Amino acid sequence: MNHGKEEKPKDQAFSQAVTHMTPCYQCGTCASSCPVAKITEHFNPREVIRLSLLGERNEVISGDAIWLCCSCYNCHERCPQKVHIPHVLYMLRNIALREGHLPNIYSEFGSALWSNGRLVNVSRFVENKRPILGLPPLQPIGVEALRRILASKGLDKLQKKEEVQ
Ligand code: SF4
Ligand code: SF4
Repeated sequence: MNHGKEEKPKDQAFSQAVTHMTPCYQCGTCASSCPVAKITEHFNPREVIRLSLLGERNEVISGDAIWLCCSCYNCHERCPQKVHIPHVLYMLRNIALREGHLPNIYSEFGSALWSNGRLVNVSRFVENKRPILGLPPLQPIGVEALRRILASKGLDKLQKKEEVQ
């Protein structure tokens, strides 16, 4: 109970970082404009902003919601406060990535890039189809150069996180 006093955010530094990016007053326009929120109850941009402003750092950073935004920018276009919600979500994803909270699908993409230089392995079957379709042979990939770029962004230390069922 807060006895009439304003409740302090749980993690003030985190809350201030988000507050700096958003003058959100929780009108909900973003949520009603969001195509992802329409199809899943696991994502609501207004709720992500609310929890962040309340300093609920762990819940936001270790949850899957921040990874569900598809960057369509509907919310940003319609927000009366011009909150750049996708950018807030990118910032939250960067924090989550640094702290090892990454959905498995992304760590699998990262591992595939690290190993082969491609997100998806091209099978011999698919490669053999290329000349039939008039496509040139696949070129070798500069995996070492790519690894240096990935390592410079910390993507060599990707950790898997349990998928939410
Ligand atoms: S539309 Fe803008 S002001 Fe309204 S809840 Fe979403 S972020 Fe906040
Ligand atoms: S940018 Fe993300 S949060 Fe905004 S409306 Fe699109 S999917 Fe929803």
